[in-house]
Amino acid sequence: MAESTGKIIELPANIVVRDLATELGVSSIQIIKTLMANGVMANINQQIDFETAAVVASELGFEARIKDLEEEKVVDVGELPDWRQKIMDEDPSKLVTRPPVVTILGHVDHGKTTLLDAIRHTDVAGGEAGGITQHIGAYQVEHKGRTITFLDTPGHAAFTAMRARGAQGADIVILVVAADDGVMPQTKEAIAHAKAAKVPIIVALNKIDRPNANPDYVKHQLADNGLQPDDWEGDTMVVPVSAKQRLGLEDLLEAILLVTDHVEIKANPQGTVAGTVIEAEMDKAKGVVATFLVQNGTLQMGDAVVAGSSSGKLRAMLDHRGKMIHKAGPATPVRVMGLNEVPSAGDIFSVYPSEKEARAIAEANRAKMKAGSDAAPKTTLEDIFEKFKAGEVKELPLIVKADVQGSLEPIINSVEDLNCEEIKINILHSGTGEITETDVNLAEASKAIIIGFNVTADPAIQKLADSKGVSIRKYAIIYRLTEDIDKALKGMLAPEFNEVITGTAAVQAVFHISKLGNIAGCKVLKGEIRRNGKMRVKRGDKVVFENEVSSLKHEKEDVREVRQGFECGIGVRNFDTFVVGDILECYVMEKVG
Ligand code: GDP
Repeated sequence: MAESTGKIIELPANIVVRDLATELGVSSIQIIKTLMANGVMANINQQIDFETAAVVASELGFEARIKDLEEEKVVDVGELPDWRQKIMDEDPSKLVTRPPVVTILGHVDHGKTTLLDAIRHTDVAGGEAGGITQHIGAYQVEHKGRTITFLDTPGHAAFTAMRARGAQGADIVILVVAADDGVMPQTKEAIAHAKAAKVPIIVALNKIDRPNANPDYVKHQLADNGLQPDDWEGDTMVVPVSAKQRLGLEDLLEAILLVTDHVEIKANPQGTVAGTVIEAEMDKAKGVVATFLVQNGTLQMGDAVVAGSSSGKLRAMLDHRGKMIHKAGPATPVRVMGLNEVPSAGDIFSVYPSEKEARAIAEANRAKMKAGSDAAPKTTLEDIFEKFKAGEVKELPLIVKADVQGSLEPIINSVEDLNCEEIKINILHSGTGEITETDVNLAEASKAIIIGFNVTADPAIQKLADSKGVSIRKYAIIYRLTEDIDKALKGMLAPEFNEVITGTAAVQAVFHISKLGNIAGCKVLKGEIRRNGKMRVKRGDKVVFENEVSSLKHEKEDVREVRQGFECGIGVRNFDTFVVGDILECYVMEKVG
């Protein structure tokens, strides 16, 4: 190796872009960008071969070596598992209906906690069974012979934290709105969070026992915020309740079941076990105690599990009434013991064949978290553009904050005017006032960009945004804002790369090299031949083949480029029928502008 003096990294013969990013400790986007700069269009899930990976690695300061095949037998660590992915991988014929998981959001003091308590007490069956309901972060109730799971940490902070870790915590959101207070700032935020997560909302119009309750007024407000009540020909169920006097609770449970039937909530109880950590703590007597919400498969006593960077063999499983159980199927919250450290709420857990394997995966997760925690890769307009090109996103999610209502509307209208068919602008949340922590959390969870118009983010919020990789763009003039977004959108739609010919070479001899196949012995006629370029093989005025350069050597050394007048050996991927006299034209794809 003549050129690279970077850190040595061992890579397999083929590697997926995402895994290469992990190996090199950079974002997948950076890998995709480097590949693009080298004329290779690849998406995050695409496999690239060692030679291509080596070029990327070298550009990022590493020297890549091919991994000894013997070593590849070590436990394959892979990405943090995502239960949604797992369900997507399931055979549709094996999916069965599971209980819905419901979370309660809403403004402070509107009655979330009281409602959760009231619902818990509707579970007469549970009471009769003599079990004392324990607070484990989630509970289940029976209604008309069907089970509903409630997460009992109300508020969107927990909900968003889960989403930020890739877990869709809940299937249905109950939005609690006090009938005597109406839609308040946190109500709006909760709507934005639920909508961003594409989770259906049922409104619990609470405190209807209050003399100053004004349900009609609140329904107007809900309609203004995009939740048209069903009795006003909309599709949001608005259920009047009194959490305190325990009125309307049956109707609320009924509404949940109706929505459940509508959205088809499914899982495979026989499938791969996966779920989310709801809460966890260290108990002096019992060690680590965690509540898991099983989302697919069936968790069993004795299973070897991994949750984030913790692992262990489950030595006790309890349900929400404190009763020992041996199995927990989809949508069941279960208290578990046996982990070696306290996982974080929102961590995804999975089951592995052995404790040893689980420990290796947890260790690897810890290393990944450590590597990732130094600098969260920022979601910028440019990144979204890259992701769009890689086929990963089809919309531009925005959170818009403005100083006054008067400027918010024209901004939203002009931003929405920029919508086009290929890419949709999705305003997740808009509001007046400073950029807040909630905005940053929502942006993090939804990979959105925050647009601030005549508003500031105080330094602590800016710091938080930086640490979470959230991009905040501030503007004072509307057209600058729309111009920026328009530019980004145009960038998303127009091809951004141009071919640039770097040089030509003439084939003077053909050599056969056992490992590489046929190599063209060439003299560079003009410009330079680049190792990271693409090659057009021309015979007379015909192009006979076109592909990447697979090897470039000068006097037996691997080199990055060979200039005019020099001789070199050139390999072209998947081509070995060079003929003396062929002209090789090397080109790269360069970013325009
Ligand atoms: P949270 O902050 O949303 O969890 O609200 P809480 O459940 O703590 O309730 C806030 C206050 O509203 C408490 O004093 C409750 O007793 C009261 N409250 C909750 N629900 C009702 C209700 O249906 N009717 C009346 N009158 N008061 C309620």
